Amino acid sequence: ASGYTLLRDPHHNKGLAFNDKERDAHYLRGLLPPVVVSQELQVKKMMHNIRQYQVPLQRYMAMMDLQERNQRLFYKMLIDHVEELLPVVYTPTVGEACQQYGSIFMRPQGLYISLKEKGKILEVLRNWPEKNIQVIVVTDGERILGLGDLGCQGMGIPVGKLSLYTALGGVRPSACLPVTIDVGTNNEELLNDEFYIGLKQKRATGQEYTELIQEFMTAVKRNYGEKILIQFEDFANHNAFDLLARYGTTHLVFNDDIQGTASVVLAGLIAALKSVGGSLSDHTFLFLGAGEAGTGIAELIALEISKKTNASVEETRKKIWLVDSKGLIVNSRKESLQHFKKPWAHEHEPITGLVDAINEIKPTVLIGTSGKGGQFTKEVVESMAAINEQPIILALSNPTSQSECTAEQAYTWSQGRAIFASGSPFGPVEYEGKVFTPGQANNAYIFPGFGLGLIMSGTIRVHDDMLLAASEALAAQVTEENYDKGLIYPPFSNIRKISAHIAANVAAKAYELGLATRLPQPKDLVKHAESCMYSPTYRGYR
Ligand code: NAP
Ligand code: MN
Repeated sequence: ASGYTLLRDPHHNKGLAFNDKERDAHYLRGLLPPVVVSQELQVKKMMHNIRQYQVPLQRYMAMMDLQERNQRLFYKMLIDHVEELLPVVYTPTVGEACQQYGSIFMRPQGLYISLKEKGKILEVLRNWPEKNIQVIVVTDGERILGLGDLGCQGMGIPVGKLSLYTALGGVRPSACLPVTIDVGTNNEELLNDEFYIGLKQKRATGQEYTELIQEFMTAVKRNYGEKILIQFEDFANHNAFDLLARYGTTHLVFNDDIQGTASVVLAGLIAALKSVGGSLSDHTFLFLGAGEAGTGIAELIALEISKKTNASVEETRKKIWLVDSKGLIVNSRKESLQHFKKPWAHEHEPITGLVDAINEIKPTVLIGTSGKGGQFTKEVVESMAAINEQPIILALSNPTSQSECTAEQAYTWSQGRAIFASGSPFGPVEYEGKVFTPGQANNAYIFPGFGLGLIMSGTIRVHDDMLLAASEALAAQVTEENYDKGLIYPPFSNIRKISAHIAANVAAKAYELGLATRLPQPKDLVKHAESCMYSPTYRGYR
């Protein structure tokens, strides 16, 4: 073992933090300048360096470079400066990185499985150097964030999500495997880009698509066993619902765009009701947008109300209404609706305008999940404020430019009465002398803790009740002090503690449902979750 190799191994490299004894023992003498520094000082220096970059993509590249060089330092930075660095390693910057992935691409950070690997996927999995994988995040790149089809360049998403699994949820980095499935792309720009890294063909669909996915799912279970968590990420909705339904009964699968979103939004609603009053079943919900996010959230709300009131889900769905690009989803449209919209086709006259829908349905909660910016106009917000003392308005579409309204608009147009949260971050807003801090319904609150809960209990299937357990655990972390500022989510700075509580509640549900395999059940699940978490602190080398 040469010192030179040690310095180039991102799992073991500590750079200037190797002390004199270690330098002697590991042939590092002379390969480093004489100074020995602490990991804390290294973090301070890197933060200083990163802040020098004005262009977000440069910050992203500096972070990716660090991850390749010194993994523990990367995670220590991310954990210690989570609020500042989350937008760098994840949205919005990761989106830009995916768009440019072909040109900034340096080293493969995950597994690429394309149509060329058909018939050989098990071998491909065995090429990955790590064997004890606990979680896979996989995309086919068809709907990357709000940016559309980015084909093979979607790899930035599984890579980014998994670094959050480690930083926020404490899953070991070596247990995380990013995968991109490449079946082509329909993005003309990429097909004509000489630097594009993926297959230069139109997307395979139908049987060819289904077979590749099937081979992948089979190979994964065969190679890693029943307890491997597979998170589907940024699939287009015409595949996402089907994949979740098909594999939900045979694999441990989770779709963050559908289920993670649902859980984080439900948590915000449960928290909001503590200040608005009443229970979920007293409320009426209207969604703008009936895709993965909209119908996923709607379904989980219906389930939660059904659990709390003993009414059937068919019954509790009736107070939840959705509007898609063609207007209010009503019974007369049922025949032509995609299957995931059908449960929401209630008895009503057709309505096209959002304001008309509000005045007719009289919702207490308005949720934007259309991906189209500016749809919550002054008239829309004023209509909500005319009906409700404290209208709950969630503008979830990303990125910031696509938000249905800004935080300032929501507070101003409702005369400071709205309870507001958004998908993209907004700064505090002052309205008539009071400062409102809008919460961000970020999926990163839920999925890392949710995944940890599944992993630490050895759960073999995801159950919707676990999503409810995660929502309740997150909502319980919101304090009086947070409420006073208008927040319906706790601050991100405590995310590891939040994740431990979510993991514990999810694991408890898994044990209760008989789906956990790690026996006996630990007495204190929160403590157990904390003790399972990866620590990025350097280790001493003999
Ligand atoms: P999706 O599956 O493509 O669904 C979009 C839905 O919006 C479709 O039902 C579509 O109608 C509808 N729509 C589009 N334009 C509309 C318009 N002008 N008026 C009314 N409805 C319209 O997308 P998704 O995955 O649900 O994501 C939607 C948005 O939510 C994205 O911006 C995403 O970033 C955001 N999101 C936020 C979070 C979060 O805050 N944590 C999490 C997930 C997603 P048709 O069905 O008729 O085409
Ligand atoms: Mn996603």
